[in-house]
Amino acid sequence: MLHPQVTVIGSGTMGNGIAHVFAQCQREVLLVDVKEEFLARAKDTITKNLERQAKKGALAEEPAAVLARIRMSTNVSDAAGTTLAVEAVPENRELKKDLFRRLDAVMPAGAVLATNTSSISITEIAAVTKRPDSVIGMHFMNPVPVMKLIEVIRGNDTSDATTADVMALSRELGKTPIEVNDYPGFVSNRVLMPLINEAAFCLMEGVATRESIDEVMKLGMGHPMGPLQLADFIGLDVCLSILQVLVDGLGDPRYRPCPLLKRLVAAGHLGRKSGRGFYDYRTA
Ligand code: NAD
Repeated sequence: MLHPQVTVIGSGTMGNGIAHVFAQCQREVLLVDVKEEFLARAKDTITKNLERQAKKGALAEEPAAVLARIRMSTNVSDAAGTTLAVEAVPENRELKKDLFRRLDAVMPAGAVLATNTSSISITEIAAVTKRPDSVIGMHFMNPVPVMKLIEVIRGNDTSDATTADVMALSRELGKTPIEVNDYPGFVSNRVLMPLINEAAFCLMEGVATRESIDEVMKLGMGHPMGPLQLADFIGLDVCLSILQVLVDGLGDPRYRPCPLLKRLVAAGHLGRKSGRGFYDYRTA
């Protein structure tokens, strides 16, 4: 078994799902966040999700047995006893770099440092460490226990050994890893965000209603969710910031964010999480 002891940093939407999957796959997990209350909330979420899996008969053991493999801490230094760290703190460059400096100082030689970033350069994060060969992107999809893909992103100096290790580990987790190189938005968001952006332009220009745009993509292209619904699910602020990364990183105006998307974000209408986005969820 690869990496029997792992650390997950950040216990939010992605971090609690990543900890869940590792523990379900027999790893001892150290889950780190800045406050006990955040860790308590993550434990509740993981418990509920494990119980749901157990009810469906999709769990090989009792939820409590899986949960017992997750240890909580507010101290990054506790990562010292593990051989892999997966970082899932908010999408903030300086925050991630600071964490990678600290992880680099405490993790044993040869340990792998992975980031779940959606859009920040792996190469840039790796450059703050003394082991850029062991830094890699492990981009899980939401919801982590359900989605099969892990986009494995090689930074400029990520070694073949680190890549092979993370590809094999991802398979041991029951996921399908796909290797990509470190360019803005990787593959997932480089392809998805222009689709969402174009749907927003269609809405702004009155090409069709929001429902019609989503239905065309669902019925015509077989997408499980329309692009505007999906944008509301991801968060319109997140979509806007990834489009900005694409414009800045690729220097091509075709990625310019739609003014309607910008206006909704400015108004605080960020999608499901704020109750309104392209759609209104307040009465739903
Ligand atoms: P989130 O805000 O739900 O969770 C982040 C957690 O990190 C919070 O619990 C926060 O308290 C904690 N945190 C903040 N600073 C910390 C620190 N210094 N040390 C330890 N913990 C700290 O965010 P999320 O949606 O889980 O996203 C995490 C990462 O995953 C981001 O880089 C995001 O781009 C990426 N991502 C998100 C999604 C998604 O659908 N939400 C999908 C793929 C990738």
